Amino acid sequence: MTAADVTLRAALAYAAADWPVLPCRPDNPRCPHADKCRVCKSPLTEHGFHDATTSEAAIRAWWERWPDANPAIATGAAGPDVLDVDVKPEGNGFSALNQLKRAGILAGAAALVRTRSGGLHIYFAGTDQGCHALRRHHLDFKARGGYVLAPPSAVHGKLYELLDRRPGTATLDWTKVIAVLDPPRTSPRSSPRTSPRWSLAGDLPPSVRRALEAPAPDRSAALHRLVGTCVRAGLDKSAIHEIAAGYEPAVAKYGSRLHAEVDRSLTRVGAT
Ligand SMILES: [Zn+2]
Repeated sequence: MTAADVTLRAALAYAAADWPVLPCRPDNPRCPHADKCRVCKSPLTEHGFHDATTSEAAIRAWWERWPDANPAIATGAAGPDVLDVDVKPEGNGFSALNQLKRAGILAGAAALVRTRSGGLHIYFAGTDQGCHALRRHHLDFKARGGYVLAPPSAVHGKLYELLDRRPGTATLDWTKVIAVLDPPRTSPRSSPRTSPRWSLAGDLPPSVRRALEAPAPDRSAALHRLVGTCVRAGLDKSAIHEIAAGYEPAVAKYGSRLHAEVDRSLTRVGAT
């Protein structure tokens, strides 16, 4: 069996489990970009995760066209929700993971994958929740509007490996993750405008704090302004997603579509 057969078989197996699949760029072990590289994880199809499918014919056609494509799975029901435990030079998500384990909210996961950075992808049954990030804890939650590279994908020559697969059907409730890792502050001085879900409130740039506190009669324009302010303040994409996820006017307007809306706004302000 060739390497291409192996990735096609994996893609078909995910689809057979009713997880929508999409093809991503083939591995490029000589990519000069380090950990921050987004290019190597990007989809090959025009509309990315929106193109994901369980159709065997479509998947076979993709792998005929791109035999070395990395298989990816669109997250959020019908696909799985995935907790992404990051490992980065500035820190990793394992201590947060242990806190969640101790709190008993990770039981019943369906699969465990070691990511190319040495982190973990923990698969749960899919839900309608949106994508979220807790940058301070090095955790990402990939749900509706996201995707994950799946085994046997490789990025920069490093593999995504299946460590464990179980018949688990549990879901992961992100509000419980927040409750464990970022419990609401009870300080009487905290402003009523500050979302209790906030994890970065202490070290936000003043311009971003002002944008969060400004009146927002037009919630769509307010979100776009906030994203632009964050980009100019030098915040990275996951931080911006985290801030937006705690911005009540945008949460109220967009709900589970917020992550996608922030991505659109990032594109409009020219951030990649
Ligand atoms: Zn790369």
